[in-house]
Amino acid sequence: MGAEIITIGDELVSGKVVDTNSAYISRRLPTVGLDVGYHTSVGDSEKDISQALRRALNRSQVVIVCGGLGPTVDDITREVAAKVVRQPLVKNEEALNSIKERFARRGLEMTPNNEKQALFPLRAELIPNSLGTAWGFLLRERGSLLFFLPGVPRELEGMVEERIIPLLSKERKGRVYIRSRVLKTFGLTESKLDELLRGATGKRKNVKLGFLPKFPTNQIRIVVRSSSEGEALRVLSQVEKELERRVGDYIFGRDEETLEGVVGRLLKENQATISVAESCTGGLIGHRLTNVPGSSEYFIGGVIGYNNQAKINLLNVSPETLRKHGAVSRQTAVEMARGVRSLHKTTLGLAVTGIAGPSGGSPEKPVGTVFIALVDEERTKVDGYHFGGSREQVKALSSQSALDWVRRYLKKS
Ligand code: ATP
Ligand code: MG
Repeated sequence: MGAEIITIGDELVSGKVVDTNSAYISRRLPTVGLDVGYHTSVGDSEKDISQALRRALNRSQVVIVCGGLGPTVDDITREVAAKVVRQPLVKNEEALNSIKERFARRGLEMTPNNEKQALFPLRAELIPNSLGTAWGFLLRERGSLLFFLPGVPRELEGMVEERIIPLLSKERKGRVYIRSRVLKTFGLTESKLDELLRGATGKRKNVKLGFLPKFPTNQIRIVVRSSSEGEALRVLSQVEKELERRVGDYIFGRDEETLEGVVGRLLKENQATISVAESCTGGLIGHRLTNVPGSSEYFIGGVIGYNNQAKINLLNVSPETLRKHGAVSRQTAVEMARGVRSLHKTTLGLAVTGIAGPSGGSPEKPVGTVFIALVDEERTKVDGYHFGGSREQVKALSSQSALDWVRRYLKKS
């Protein structure tokens, strides 16, 4: 018997809000040796909620329920939970005081319906919420653990990390340990990856590899199970090394790392700075670089040189180059990169120019033609691509490729 997740709310089943809580919890439970077998979403209906709870109790050891703990009339999870386990709802003074204090701190008036949030089934163990008024609770029923958590993702995540994971890891001592790692790749197709990885786990029966395409990247997930945590971690690192040996430089990051984060780290390590000149990506590369906290240390600035005039005025591209070779050309890309580098006096200058489509292509330069240039003090690297896909996809592929060039450049230097 494994774990299951029940999310509650009309907004979920009607498609107005995407259920991200189930995904979050499912990613976290394997770290305490629990596999999630079911996700169920139900609307704010007593019959549906109680049916979902009863079914879960019959088939799962750990059940995590989220949503519907709020003060409004549509929030009925606590009432239904109490009925299912046949316990009365009783007021908890500690929770009530904490809710009162929360309102007082913000200078808000507490309305009577908020008192409902201090009611819990008689034998519930309370799970405080440091980020909101909806406390969670745990019921132990017929050998199963039944957790109730609020629906607000930030609050739910806080409680999962602070309370649920530590509690479950204690309760489940001596069972299976599941450890996993995600390796993120760019530049190889899924089938090529599959070919490279065939047989990579050897005879090990406790290792599973999974593929997850996340445009424009492909992710490989390694999952190891063992009765000992040390053994699980040891096997994980062996398999990871083997995959690195096979896939090599196409791996740009692991787990939560992003390409722009890795590029930022490498720039810092190399004490290098960068500036970008963007045409078809329209600032996307600058946006991605500045998504990383502290990026002002190495990202000096960018220029969106979208039309010819801007390329001439802001990036010092020569009108002659534009006339002879066009805005989408090797020559223009190089001049843009040199222009922005000398404007911002950075170690590196990066430039992208291309045709994102859907119109604007020609037989010799079809939609998806993109040139990237990367220059430093002495060297110039420039190349062209023919990307497929929609306008957004061409932009995403262009920014990804350009940032990946920087990563590869910095890894070698
Ligand atoms: P609160 O008292 O903080 O409102 P609650 O338990 O009543 O807690 P809900 O009213 O069910 O929570 O949901 C609060 C917010 O969280 C809503 O904006 C809802 O859309 C969002 N939410 C609820 N469940 C999920 C979910 N499974 N995934 C993503 N968002 C969710
Ligand atoms: Mg709700």
